[in-house]
Amino acid sequence: MELTTTLANTARELGASLVGVAPVERFDGAPPAHHPTELLPGAKAVMTFGIRILDRVMEWPELLKGSPFYPEPKRAEALRVCLYEKSGYEVINDHLNTIALRVATHLEEAGFPSLFFPTTNTGVPEEFTRIPAMFSQRHAAVRAGLGEFGLNNVVVTARYGPRIRWNSVITAAPLTPSPLLAEKTCDGLACLECVRQCPHGALSTLPEAAEQGIWLNPPARTDWNTCRRSRSVTDCMGRCLRVCPAGRTPANGRNGQIA
Ligand code: SF4
Ligand code: SF4
Repeated sequence: MELTTTLANTARELGASLVGVAPVERFDGAPPAHHPTELLPGAKAVMTFGIRILDRVMEWPELLKGSPFYPEPKRAEALRVCLYEKSGYEVINDHLNTIALRVATHLEEAGFPSLFFPTTNTGVPEEFTRIPAMFSQRHAAVRAGLGEFGLNNVVVTARYGPRIRWNSVITAAPLTPSPLLAEKTCDGLACLECVRQCPHGALSTLPEAAEQGIWLNPPARTDWNTCRRSRSVTDCMGRCLRVCPAGRTPANGRNGQIA
């Protein structure tokens, strides 16, 4: 079986919801030290895979309603920490690391040097999580045709909207590229729901937000300090993903993923 298909099947068998491949040329223009060929000399392609977040986990604030304990702040905190941050974040990220390890190891066994970075906040010392990531999973997912940047600054896919997490493998193997996205998935200024519902105005649009094409780079800015503060004092954790209408209809598309 062709190598790209074999690896995509492996990723899916391990739980990936979407899989795609970008040739390294699609990363041209990346900031210094972020291009795949700088991270892995001889790199030819980047395989990116995502695992969706379960709907009920995503809707965790709904579980506050009708509870005899509501509005007990402790219950809100327990739901946020135990349900959203564990089931909707850490468990998925750990699983994405397992997929990355399996894919990268398979590639090296086949003779192609490969590497991956751990997903955000999975065992990485805090001092390294406060600096820009060495490799942007969001940019890789967009360049693999799996979605586009939305005004919430995360990747909006046709099938799951922005409710999905990512990891990637950079490899010297000349994997078969997936097509870039053909149709927009973020309605941009005609929607603005994520920007409006962000409780403390952490999201603001950039001039690029007025452009009509597929957004390969963020069309908005996130004030991360405001965002971090808001997460711990409100039920906003994930709100900019939860309120996004993309991927909510049964007629959603197949993205640019490997068939
Ligand atoms: S997580 Fe909350 S504060 Fe941060 S951008 Fe999203 S809605 Fe705004
Ligand atoms: S809520 Fe609307 S503007 Fe924000 S990312 Fe989703 S589709 Fe785009």
